[in-house]
Amino acid sequence: MNRATLIQGLPKVDLHTHLAGTMSAETLRELADKAGLSVPDNVYQIESADDFLAKLNLVVEVLKGPDDFELITYEYLSRAARSSNLRHCELSFNPTLFPRQQYPDILAAIRRSAESARREFGISSLLIPSICRDQGAGVAEEFLDLVLAHRESDIAGIGLDGDELAAPPEQFVDVFRRAGQAGLKRTAHVTYPPASRVLYCVDELGCDRIDHGYYVLEDPKEAQTVADRQIPLTVCYSITCKSRGWNLESHPIGPMLAHDFNLSLGTDDEAFVATDIGNEYVKVCEGYDLSMEEVGVLLHAGVNISWADEGRKAELHSEIDVALAAATTGSISNE
Ligand SMILES: [Zn+2]
Repeated sequence: MNRATLIQGLPKVDLHTHLAGTMSAETLRELADKAGLSVPDNVYQIESADDFLAKLNLVVEVLKGPDDFELITYEYLSRAARSSNLRHCELSFNPTLFPRQQYPDILAAIRRSAESARREFGISSLLIPSICRDQGAGVAEEFLDLVLAHRESDIAGIGLDGDELAAPPEQFVDVFRRAGQAGLKRTAHVTYPPASRVLYCVDELGCDRIDHGYYVLEDPKEAQTVADRQIPLTVCYSITCKSRGWNLESHPIGPMLAHDFNLSLGTDDEAFVATDIGNEYVKVCEGYDLSMEEVGVLLHAGVNISWADEGRKAELHSEIDVALAAATTGSISNE
């Protein structure tokens, strides 16, 4: 077996995936037709970070109710199980982009598909309702009320995504602190400078981990602190190559790996770059020439960073160890 095929098949987690961004082109077309909407042919071709956010909004619009969420959740989980040996995922979605009264039904629909995937493929799933920051701090407070009113055991925490330039994290300190007091874990997208923003979100918003966080490298002192404190970052290679124009040489993941940052790979919005979590591992592990031991460190870090309970984490660590042991005793060819 060649190394890429082997890495693709190792058990893994994905902690950074947005449900709306997982829709295959066929499903997108099908749901658009059903909703009577026309979606441009180039919707999955992104030119820049702004273009990506605009196109993601078009994709979200085709989701009209619980049935659509049930479909895309099941499609995503079953596809990732087969293609990438996904074993645990933490799925983000934005409740306030849909009518508030639909939220309990949308939540139930996503949970039904997550339960089917657990039964059929053994994948564990947690949900991350996420604040769409463009809607402002007032809507974010309503969002938290909604999340707390319909709290299920698989809602591990909240996220913060959307247009960071329009709404920086300073606007969400209060709502994040209230979420923390209610016992929710917290993550936030940090996709723009200043470099200090990663630690700001950890220290002021109480984030348990950060999504992306690349620009911390612009300040060596901040970067060293993030590495020393082992702040968990979920990093997404393919989508940021596309939206930021990065490649293997210029992508911040390279120096982050070299300086032992606490990283887990995610897909972000896989349909926009025709990827899956297995392929992300292959690109990064092969691209940066990681040893199998280093691949193992990355896989285990994903489990450690996850919000799964300790029992599930132990199962996932053990699955990874068994698969890695089999891989190192088997033959890896360079074909
Ligand atoms: Zn994201």
